[in-house]
Amino acid sequence: MLSGRRFLKILSFGPLLLIPLMVGLLSFLYIEMYNKSFEFSLKELEKDMYEMEMSTGKDKISSVSDIIIYQKSTTQEKLKSRIKDRVNVAYEIANNIYNKYKNVKSKEEIQNIIKTSLETLTWNNGESFIYMLDYDGIFRLAPKHLKHLEETCAIDLQDSTGKYIIKEEIALCINDDGGFLWNTFTKSPDSGKKHKQIVYVKAFNHYNWYLGSGEYIDSAIKKTDKELLKTIAEINNIGNRYIFVVHKDGYILFQKAIPDHISQNISDFEKKYTLKAIEKITQSMKENNSDYVSYNWVNLQTETIEEKLSYIMKVPGTDWIIGTGFYLKDIEQEIALKKSEMYKIYYEKSQRVIYLTVLIMIVTFFISYYISAKIKQSFLNYERRISLKNLELEQLNEGLEQKIKDRTSELHKSEYDLKIKNDILEKLSRRDGLTNIANRRYFDENFEIKCKESSREQTSLVAIMIDIDCFKDYNDHYGHAKGDEALKKVAKTLENELKRPSDMVARYGGEEFVLLLKDVDIKGAKQVADSLLKAIANLKIPHEYSIVTNIISISIGVSYADGYENIDKEALLKEADDALYEAKNSGRNKVVMNNT
Ligand code: GH3
Ligand code: MG
Ligand code: MG
Repeated sequence: MLSGRRFLKILSFGPLLLIPLMVGLLSFLYIEMYNKSFEFSLKELEKDMYEMEMSTGKDKISSVSDIIIYQKSTTQEKLKSRIKDRVNVAYEIANNIYNKYKNVKSKEEIQNIIKTSLETLTWNNGESFIYMLDYDGIFRLAPKHLKHLEETCAIDLQDSTGKYIIKEEIALCINDDGGFLWNTFTKSPDSGKKHKQIVYVKAFNHYNWYLGSGEYIDSAIKKTDKELLKTIAEINNIGNRYIFVVHKDGYILFQKAIPDHISQNISDFEKKYTLKAIEKITQSMKENNSDYVSYNWVNLQTETIEEKLSYIMKVPGTDWIIGTGFYLKDIEQEIALKKSEMYKIYYEKSQRVIYLTVLIMIVTFFISYYISAKIKQSFLNYERRISLKNLELEQLNEGLEQKIKDRTSELHKSEYDLKIKNDILEKLSRRDGLTNIANRRYFDENFEIKCKESSREQTSLVAIMIDIDCFKDYNDHYGHAKGDEALKKVAKTLENELKRPSDMVARYGGEEFVLLLKDVDIKGAKQVADSLLKAIANLKIPHEYSIVTNIISISIGVSYADGYENIDKEALLKEADDALYEAKNSGRNKVVMNNT
């Protein structure tokens, strides 16, 4: 079983410790959870960064591959329309000349004008030109390198596959007014190698002539490739990530230029790393159409050899391998940077949570302090009432015993009843009927006990006499009922000011109260008296007819006995009364200490 005191301690300290502790625990749990989720996001960040880098490269490569496929697939179409356009331009010129001079100049003169006009039409540094033949196979306009064939019959001219190309061209013009033809030639500097050429011919029916022009397909492809590499170079300059193009036979078609000072500084870079990397790339593309490969390459930003992870892809329908990659160190650096940013946010947030927790703990501490004080006070008041009740019960018991005893006596019945009733009532009244606190009788009995206790234990005893100021005037002006109400409030407030179970308060009579405090020094006694004065003032019960203030106030007299000698009960009380008298005489609403 818990003793009353211990129970009181638990009651009053319970909320004081428990509430701030709960707040602390909750924020601790929150911080823990936040920690866990932070660690998880760090891991996710790393994964995301790598995945993002890898997919960025992949997307870029597939879109570049689409461009290449499109450009290459249209090369032939573009070439055809280019040649056709040239022939059509030449035809228009010839036709205009014919129409202009047909009635004014001779046939030979017109033919000469046409010939000299078309002679000057050349493209691709003279590689592409316009030629003219008649349906007998006579060269009417021959290109520079075949000038010697002009005005001679070329009907039996064959290409390197043995095809009679002139005969085919004439047939096409006669039958269809012209069209496209393919032929194959060896070029003089690199003899032996065959080059495919596309030719477009168109009939010039005024003279049974036809016009033609052709272009080698490989030079058109070269031109497209050059343009494509130029396009790739243009879209390339984004940071450390760039596209490279490697031929499947293992030579670099395009890469971001490595400045001389770097390639010189990094000895053997070319031999050692280029070969290895290219070999890895081409090897991988023999087995797959696309892949991630890692190899060492020079990082142009740090100028050192670093591990690089590239996404590479075979461009469908071509011999090209394109790729782009990133240096693992770059990503690590980026991750570190992001992480430090996240740490900063994490740190700031944690700090805020901690500050907030401390603040809430302080606030809840005060709230729980208030709750604790309230609980403690109610408990004390409750205890006091219980002890009064007990006393009443004891007295009642005694009264009843007496009653039984007396019943057997010879006393006259009615006399007997009246006496007993009065006795019981007398003994019952340890509690003041109006204010519900102890009455004078209880005080007297207890005072006696407390004096003895203090003398025995050699602890001090303090008596505090309290009298409400100008209370008669209050009653006179506000009425007796209001006066009772004020008395009750004052009594309740005085009771609430008692902080220890051993403290007691009683209504001494009328509007006077008395308090007993054990084991308190003079300073403490003064503090208690001051706080009583303040507590009553804080009630702010209006009293316009008071000569002191406009609210109900009290005057207090305090006396003190150290308990080293036997305490003289009467003297202690008289000293308190004297002090109260002095307080009244010196203006009221004050505490006077009787320290003698
Ligand atoms: P002082 O400041 O000198 O103490 O002036 P006072 O008017 O308070 O003192 P006085 O002793 O002249 O009057 C006390 C008054 O208290 C008289 C009476 O009307 C009032 N009183 C005493 N007991 C009760 C009570 O039980 N109920 C009410 N309403 N008034 C009471
Ligand atoms: Mg009085
Ligand atoms: Mg008074």
